[in-house]
Amino acid sequence: MNGVVGVNWAGNTVFGAAELRTPETVEQLQELVSARPRIRALGTRHSFNDLADSSGTLVSLVDRAPEPRLDTERMTVSVAAGTRYGVLASWLHARGYALHNMGSLPHISVAGAIATGTHGSGNALGTLSTAVAGLQLVSGQGELLEIDRTHPEFTGMVVSLGALGIVTRVTLDIQPTFDVRQDVYEGLPWDIALTEFEAITSSAYSVSLFTDWLGDTIQGAWFKTRLAAGETGSMPPSMFGATAATTETSLVEGEDNTTVQGGIPGPWSERLPHFRLDSTPSNGDELQTEYFVDRRQAPDALAAVRALGASIAPHLLITELRTMAADELWLSPATGRPSLTIHFTWKNEPAAVARLVPQIQAALEPFSARPHWGKVNTMTAAEIAPLYPRLPEFAALCERMDPQHRFRNSYLERVLGLAD
Ligand SMILES: Cc1cc2nc3c(=O)[nH]c(=O)nc-3n(C[C@H](O)[C@H](O)[C@H](O)COP(=O)(O)OP(=O)(O)OC[C@H]3O[C@@H](n4cnc5c(N)ncnc54)[C@H](O)[C@@H]3O)c2cc1C
Repeated sequence: MNGVVGVNWAGNTVFGAAELRTPETVEQLQELVSARPRIRALGTRHSFNDLADSSGTLVSLVDRAPEPRLDTERMTVSVAAGTRYGVLASWLHARGYALHNMGSLPHISVAGAIATGTHGSGNALGTLSTAVAGLQLVSGQGELLEIDRTHPEFTGMVVSLGALGIVTRVTLDIQPTFDVRQDVYEGLPWDIALTEFEAITSSAYSVSLFTDWLGDTIQGAWFKTRLAAGETGSMPPSMFGATAATTETSLVEGEDNTTVQGGIPGPWSERLPHFRLDSTPSNGDELQTEYFVDRRQAPDALAAVRALGASIAPHLLITELRTMAADELWLSPATGRPSLTIHFTWKNEPAAVARLVPQIQAALEPFSARPHWGKVNTMTAAEIAPLYPRLPEFAALCERMDPQHRFRNSYLERVLGLAD
């Protein structure tokens, strides 16, 4: 039985909510929030756990018209919260504008992605949430609030895990559009990766490393280079001991779902995501786990996970290593420290994943690893609390914006200690 609302994208969570509502206007949403004791927003269902669920009502805004509005003076775009990143990205590029970065898949909703601190890669680039300049949301009292960076608690409101309200519009920073070329290299020696980690990850606008943790080399290094107008750029035949790939590389064997590689320049919107909007992202039959550690500890943290490589590899489709700049968002997993994310795309083997995830968490515990809020993890509120210095302020903010706990659920209780 898959319940009234069905399952998440991965199929590993059956939503327990009693109903799924799709209000057509903000006023209808306000009435619904005021009338329901428990209610939360569901995005495009791409999280791998019960984060989005509610014991009462789920609301979906993903089929609402995007209604993007450009403000070329402030260099922002405001968009309906349920809009998929890929839809917004194409719209922006067609008008000469860009976002600073994208996640690996363009299918996710803007509100759902920013609520969890979803990220792409790039040493100098913050998570997608760092581009948020404003939010329109319905609070737990049914009020429609317009909040921007001038609000003293704005940095507490962006990565919200859906606990503060139902976001109806999001305003994002934009910049003039730009082209990117994507070059894939194969066989990056682990020794060089560990000793030159910062140099490797800062050698392009966005760098991702792909490994199965076995052997002496990292299988793939993807360099996404930002190009000046009219420039095509060039890359050497070898980078840090890795060799330029001669054919397109897929993340999933036999799948043709990746964005164009081979150094062919194209719009940011079609190179920064790994997957194309018109295809199934990743494998489609998988689980995912990811941890954020301080990038300055990257070599030691990677060595700690590598020691588990033989146990991990049989159950793994691929690991991706990405980097991001530190930010100030209270619940961002990159808060306060430049970060490395160690990501695991698992085969759809829940028992093996349930066994391995605590082992990985234990290996990364000395590095104060923070889990991706939207991926499989078993960390408890007691383990999470010391990792987020501003969590007490967030809890107080939740009480003020949602005094009747309409947006609470069992995930928030288990992981943040916010009573349901
Ligand atoms: C194949 C695949 C690839 C992925 N790649 C990446 C990646 O590259 N980088 C990365 O960081 N993550 C990645 N993820 C994880 C994904 O980006 C996050 O889980 C993201 O939060 C999913 O967004 P969603 O729209 O599906 O939201 P959901 O999973 O539906 O919901 C996530 C949270 O957002 C809240 N929410 C949704 N809409 C609203 C709203 N309108 N108002 C208030 N709260 C709201 C929900 O209540 C919930 O708390 C990937 C996931 C998949 C399946």
